[in-house]
Amino acid sequence: MTGRPTPETTASAALFERALAVTPGGVNSPVRAFNAVGGTPRFIRSAAGAWLTDVDGNEYVDLICSWGPMLLGHAHPEVQARVAEAVARGTSYGTPTEPEVQLAEEIVGRTPVERVRFVSSGTEATMSAIRLARGFTGRDVIVKFAGCYHGHVDSLLASAGSGLATFALPGTPGVPVSSTELTLVLPYNDRAAVEKVFAEYPDRIACLITEAAPGNMGVVPPEPGFNAFLAETCSRYGALFVSDEVMTGFRASKLGQWGLDGAVEGWRPDLMTFGKVMGGGFPAAAFGGRADVMSHLAPEGPVYQAGTLSGNPIATTAGLATLRLATDEVYDHIGAAADTIKAAASDALSKAGVAHVVQSTGTMFSVFFAEGTVRDFTDASRTDSTAYAAFFHAMLDAGVYLPPSAYEAWFLSAAHDDRAVQTVLDALPDAARAAA
Ligand code: PLP
Repeated sequence: MTGRPTPETTASAALFERALAVTPGGVNSPVRAFNAVGGTPRFIRSAAGAWLTDVDGNEYVDLICSWGPMLLGHAHPEVQARVAEAVARGTSYGTPTEPEVQLAEEIVGRTPVERVRFVSSGTEATMSAIRLARGFTGRDVIVKFAGCYHGHVDSLLASAGSGLATFALPGTPGVPVSSTELTLVLPYNDRAAVEKVFAEYPDRIACLITEAAPGNMGVVPPEPGFNAFLAETCSRYGALFVSDEVMTGFRASKLGQWGLDGAVEGWRPDLMTFGKVMGGGFPAAAFGGRADVMSHLAPEGPVYQAGTLSGNPIATTAGLATLRLATDEVYDHIGAAADTIKAAASDALSKAGVAHVVQSTGTMFSVFFAEGTVRDFTDASRTDSTAYAAFFHAMLDAGVYLPPSAYEAWFLSAAHDDRAVQTVLDALPDAARAAA
């Protein structure tokens, strides 16, 4: 027990009841529901800086940040101003615009991609990258890692079959076997498994797609040299290396996960995918890469891909404003706040005797309620979800909105100032005891 009064949630509960009647699970993306932790999701009325305000008037320090995008914090005045100006000029034209070119130039300038194509979600980005990889190579098989999430693309909603180097099974009803039977699922950080599938299918693998650093099973950093090894192996077999930076892009560091490994080690992916931060809180995502590969896309090349709202002027304006404001100082600030919270969480959980491990890549981190290093999905699955649920609710009651799932990164922003961080630190000891 925390001894704090439980916040009033009548208005959220009433809205949730209405939502349940008209929307499956009452939410428009499953992870927003509290199914994994129990209880009623808070309906948010507004947000500013590091804080969310719900419809009952409760305030929370936001450690979700819209699942990554809000790098600068909510309602950043300069982003808001650029968006307001853009809205006044109309919201969508279905013709090319200047902000698209500017945002593309910004991304090409900050990453190893030579050309980009905009889409509206990370799912579209990975789906399109895979189609392009298949079209470019003329091959059909794709390789992914268990625990890596690339959006709800049929062929990527696959779980591992019974043995290594066997084709995958659909990960959800509604995906036919025919959609996953060309997908190979391997354990993350496992070089031998990668070598084995490439040796077994040397002429069939179109691409290997990986989260540049997995964040969707909690943060599981690539072991040193792992991404370089993947890039080299793909190149050796004539397959494309697709690095999914939808979550890590412009988030793990100013140059994403690539800034932490590829830029230092001197290799580049053939294709990359981006989303979240680059949309500044609006639906914008992108895929891009080698110029010779990207030139295979319609209308320049034969591989079809399109989108009514792709490169939307409001979304690209917000993304451009966000990236231009994402200076070294922003990443230094987020990194320092992350270090403070990581140390305090670990201390509180240790004192309460709760098994845990804190893992990070750049400024991204998560706290696993599990013993020992987590290096793949099997390790992540050892997380004690019941302990996390108790911890989550104690934090929520104390005014800290964590992801309602034990397998997520905790996101911070440039707006997480001393007051916000202190609110998190103050909540941790009681929450850790609740989890014990
Ligand atoms: N790829 C990664 C690494 C992600 O984390 C996500 C979403 O969380 C996606 C792709 C899918 O993006 P979206 O939810 O915008 O479709």
